[in-house]
Amino acid sequence: MSIEIIGYKIIARGIVQGVGFRPFIYTHAIANHLTGWVRNTSNGVEIEINGKENDIHHFLSLLREQLPPLARIDQIEITPSPPSGYLVFEIIPSQPQANEFIPITPDIAICADCKRELFDPANRRYRYPFINCTNCGPRFTIIQDIPYDRPLTTMSEFLMCSSCKSEYDNPLDRRFHAQPIACPECGPQIRFESPQTSVVKQETALQTARQWLKNGKILAIKGLGGFHLACDASNPTAVEELRTRKGRVDKPFALMAFDLKTIRRHCLVSDQEAELLLSRQHPIVLLERKASSNIAQAVAPNQQTMGIMLAYTPLHLLLLEPEEGFPDLLVMTSGNISEEPICYDDQEARERLGNLAEGFLLHNRRIHMRVDDSVVRKMADQPYPIRRARGFAPDGILLSSPVPPLLAGGAELKNTFCLARQNYAFVSHHIGDMENFETLRSFEEGIRHYEQLFRIRPELFACDLHPDYLATRYIQQRACEEKLPIVTVQHHHAHLAACLADHGWSNDEPVIGVCFDGTGLGTDGTIWGGEFLVGGYSDYQREYHLAYIPLPGGDAAIRKPARMALAHLWQAGLEWEGNLPPVQELNAEEQSALRKQLEKGLNAPLTSSMGRFFDAVAALIGLRERVTYEGQAAIELEAAADPEEKGFYPFEIRHGVLDPTPLWKKLLKDWRNGISIPVLSARFHNSIVAGTLEACSHIRDRKGCNVIALSGGVWQNRYLLENSVRALKKAGFEILLHHQVPTNDGGISLGQAIVAAANVR
Ligand code: ZN
Ligand code: ZN
Ligand code: FE
Repeated sequence: MSIEIIGYKIIARGIVQGVGFRPFIYTHAIANHLTGWVRNTSNGVEIEINGKENDIHHFLSLLREQLPPLARIDQIEITPSPPSGYLVFEIIPSQPQANEFIPITPDIAICADCKRELFDPANRRYRYPFINCTNCGPRFTIIQDIPYDRPLTTMSEFLMCSSCKSEYDNPLDRRFHAQPIACPECGPQIRFESPQTSVVKQETALQTARQWLKNGKILAIKGLGGFHLACDASNPTAVEELRTRKGRVDKPFALMAFDLKTIRRHCLVSDQEAELLLSRQHPIVLLERKASSNIAQAVAPNQQTMGIMLAYTPLHLLLLEPEEGFPDLLVMTSGNISEEPICYDDQEARERLGNLAEGFLLHNRRIHMRVDDSVVRKMADQPYPIRRARGFAPDGILLSSPVPPLLAGGAELKNTFCLARQNYAFVSHHIGDMENFETLRSFEEGIRHYEQLFRIRPELFACDLHPDYLATRYIQQRACEEKLPIVTVQHHHAHLAACLADHGWSNDEPVIGVCFDGTGLGTDGTIWGGEFLVGGYSDYQREYHLAYIPLPGGDAAIRKPARMALAHLWQAGLEWEGNLPPVQELNAEEQSALRKQLEKGLNAPLTSSMGRFFDAVAALIGLRERVTYEGQAAIELEAAADPEEKGFYPFEIRHGVLDPTPLWKKLLKDWRNGISIPVLSARFHNSIVAGTLEACSHIRDRKGCNVIALSGGVWQNRYLLENSVRALKKAGFEILLHHQVPTNDGGISLGQAIVAAANVR
């Protein structure tokens, strides 16, 4: 090995700023006797090193194998460069360039080191609710603009004390350039407020909040990305009261626990689920409830799962610290009224949540961008994203090929938008159901913020085919005002493309997209939702779909699955027998009006929706006749399914249609014979698995496609997903499942973006 001094230049792109990357380089350069420098640039980190070949190789292997916990290198260039005779290694000032961009780190749950210090009486940040370091703490929610430096965050309002400053300036300190660095001397503070009280003394404010929660009161608690409404999850009166005040009838509430041990007392937690709970995102994980748990039924009515997250900020840890008589779990549901966006501003919270909460636990670190908690469920042996928000957004999704700067508006429910440039798609955090002015405003604010942060000026727009979605209108208006091209993307094609992009799919070979969801406008003017497509990014063909059924009364049929059940029976030519649960649910007048609607096709748009099919079956077997939130009937049908049951009912599959008439006949017969709900439910699920396998096999026989992408909200059903994956894999298919963006409409914007880019290429 040569002892000659050689040199290299390195350019690294990815998540390399604000994550302790430069100190990592600095430490390892020094340890390997290298000289040179490292600096941030506008699109990454630049390094120049001089040293002996041996040392350089050792340094480069570290770069490949061992990075700081939050760092991620997407692209690296290493080129030889003549040595420049540096005497030391140093971190030199950055040089920003206009219009360049770097990925921005999401907010990260408190790390193990900070947690230890939080409960260490000898530490100067002992019990300080805002302790953080380079490896953890707020990021995205406090960033106003790039570069990510303290003056451009909401922490600019706090002047660092000399102790914090010396940690901030020391490359060997865990808090070197940790922008939100703070301590009890110089950082944010909490306070407790109620109409009668105001407590500013830190520990007293905290203990008051704990006492109130223990006494069954409902509090509004300001956290990382917004406010939560909190109460004791084992107190049925408090939980019911929260439901009434929030106007939320059945939709489950999320829970928060201090540690894993506590969660295990209430839920079954596999190793993989534990890993998810403890991941740096600390998402809400859907877990199976133990029968012995004392959590109020009202937390998640008619469900066997509970959504639980671990305390992810120091404030939450202090709030939930175990103590004799203090509740194990707190309800921590987003601080809002029903479907409005989460509150994030103190004054706004006082106005909007004043009637919902008895007291407020507040702090004076401003939240610049509101972000909800993320939701994940372990399915088919992998984490399956249900809601992508805190901890995940705004991480860029790496694309297989570059795209022009563009904006996609998404669909309507559980909406996100997507801004993309070069090889990155920035799918926004969960925005919500775009059905009210508040959510639309939050959508528009979000778009402006992302455009600024990532320096994206869209040259291309994408939207759903549905002309009345608020997101579609917004996109159309912008394209019109800015005189730029717009690509309209069919909803289920967007689902297929989203699933492909989620996998970085770069192949041209067509893929089968099995897109099952509730609603998406089709190219023939009907409402699609049980679709077998074949295609890729640029184009698709519809090969099979669930038979069209009238949707009597449109939204009325969605709210009342009983109507949907009778519509299905009518379409299959089956009698509405008097003892059938959906017949009993509707009075004679409603029934005759419904029959007239069906016969005359009045206000009864046709749909091939798989979601509505699940609703209809749930209603037919007497499980759920009306719903109070989207997907409720299907969720309860899944919860009821007997996992041991293997029977199924047939479809008639011909001319591109899956006709459920034979299925309904057999299901009705079983019901009349008194077969139990769990068995009926399992047989129905198994029928969808069998029908899917059959349709996909036909497509493979004809077209040779062997890869299947599963997308659409119906795939959030674990029983259906896992059994389908098993059956399809057994038949030799390769399966693509969502793993970065949700399978529901939260992933639509990514699909639209990539379809639009493919269509202008
Ligand atoms: Zn930390
Ligand atoms: Zn300080
Ligand atoms: Fe959808």
